[in-house]
Amino acid sequence: MTRSRRAMRLRILSYLFKHLKAIYHIDWPRKVFGTGEISEHDVEALVAFKSDPQLDGLHAALIRLESKSFGICIRCAQEIGQDLLDADPTRRLCGECEKDLNRPPSAEMNSAHGLTMAHQDRHFKNLREPA
Ligand SMILES: [Zn+2]
Repeated sequence: MTRSRRAMRLRILSYLFKHLKAIYHIDWPRKVFGTGEISEHDVEALVAFKSDPQLDGLHAALIRLESKSFGICIRCAQEIGQDLLDADPTRRLCGECEKDLNRPPSAEMNSAHGLTMAHQDRHFKNLREPA
């Protein structure tokens, strides 16, 4: 992460502000978020009980920022590119690891769709037939 922690915090707060306003119509003064004057307790209170993965992700990103684990890939422990973090501060994988995980490990796995369908068939069958 090349951006300073303070700059990154403000960026995450700005995402938080936009999301709270757009989805929950919570309209705190933008200044509070824009200057980072909002306390951890207020952030916690704002995201609490909403069961919103985006809010939880942003909150977790703020906590990681404090614990200095922010911007480190959870898979390979390398730094995640600043451009990727800017686009999505909740990101926890570097670009390489994300590619790796989204790529089928072998040729057989190209039939992953087939496997999934077979699995679903089995699942529904189990639902239909009482044990
Ligand atoms: Zn990685």
